Amino acid sequence: MLLEVRDLQVEFRTGDGVAKAVNGVSYSVDAGETLAVLGESGSGKSVTAQAIMGILDTPPGKITGGEILFRGQDLLSLKEDERRKIRGASMAMIFQDALSALNPVVSVDNQLGEMFTVHRRLPRKAARAKAVELMERVGIPGARERAGQYPHQFSGGMRQRIMIATALALEPDLIIADEPTTALDVTVQAQVMDLLAHLRRELNMGLILITHDLGVVADVADRIAVMYAGRIVETAPVHDIYKAPAHPYTKGLLRSIPRLDQKGQELYAIKGLPPNLMRIPPGCAFHPRCPLARDVCRTEVPPLYEVSQDRGSACHFWREALHG
Ligand code: ADP
Ligand code: MG
Repeated sequence: MLLEVRDLQVEFRTGDGVAKAVNGVSYSVDAGETLAVLGESGSGKSVTAQAIMGILDTPPGKITGGEILFRGQDLLSLKEDERRKIRGASMAMIFQDALSALNPVVSVDNQLGEMFTVHRRLPRKAARAKAVELMERVGIPGARERAGQYPHQFSGGMRQRIMIATALALEPDLIIADEPTTALDVTVQAQVMDLLAHLRRELNMGLILITHDLGVVADVADRIAVMYAGRIVETAPVHDIYKAPAHPYTKGLLRSIPRLDQKGQELYAIKGLPPNLMRIPPGCAFHPRCPLARDVCRTEVPPLYEVSQDRGSACHFWREALHG
């Protein structure tokens, strides 16, 4: 297995109290596989990714439990300089906002080239040639002519391609893309998503695709992990989830996607708000919003029940959710 996260726990200690952002997350990704991590804002998707990458804000953040195994090696036991070597070379991250992730005062060829001068000790000219090659690979038209330009001179979609190129530069085994298309127009979203899927196949990378939008993952993901209040509440192969979700929260998310064939129907919204992570409700964290909630849901934390060999649902009434 390329990456295995086991029972990860992350807290943030602030003046107001302790926010339990990640509460026992386990997931894994193999080479060539795409795992989509889904959930509303604040469910712990990015914090989990930051813990994997070793870029968590500590303090106030703190990993209080669990393991992160990369090719079998526990990353949490490594020193910072060993982590740094893995970051970039073996795993890389793509963020939502390319404009703030890229350096505004360094030309694109120099930014990309730096990956090769710093990490691979290539001379500048060779590094620049590599930079242009990467820009071509991610589909930037006129790459050679535009390589000397600055990030703000490119459109949002092209900037996102540049960030993808930066992430790909050292041919990592794992890419974590955190809401990579959220800031883009719908048509550009699809193009960037296609590019990611294509590169993932071509390079046989593992891809973790974080999104709050179930609509974008159907065509690109192999598996889905749905997060709520810092836990995985459902995990399954992507087609199973679309056909029949086994958790009321996933059902709510699915019903809230706009569908072309249901024009004019009012869009469904899950009632209520995500919980305050300093006061996560007892029992199942979703119970205050759940249409199936009963007494046991208010007192007992549901384990991840095995729905089938490769599916799990953390709902006491998953059978009802699945068949209802
Ligand atoms: P998302 O699922 O939207 O990516 P995050 O993983 O970013 O959510 O955040 C989960 C929760 O962790 C936030 O709602 C917040 O309570 C807490 N958190 C994240 N980053 C910080 C931080 N730098 N300082 C304090 N709390 C944080
Ligand atoms: Mg996030």
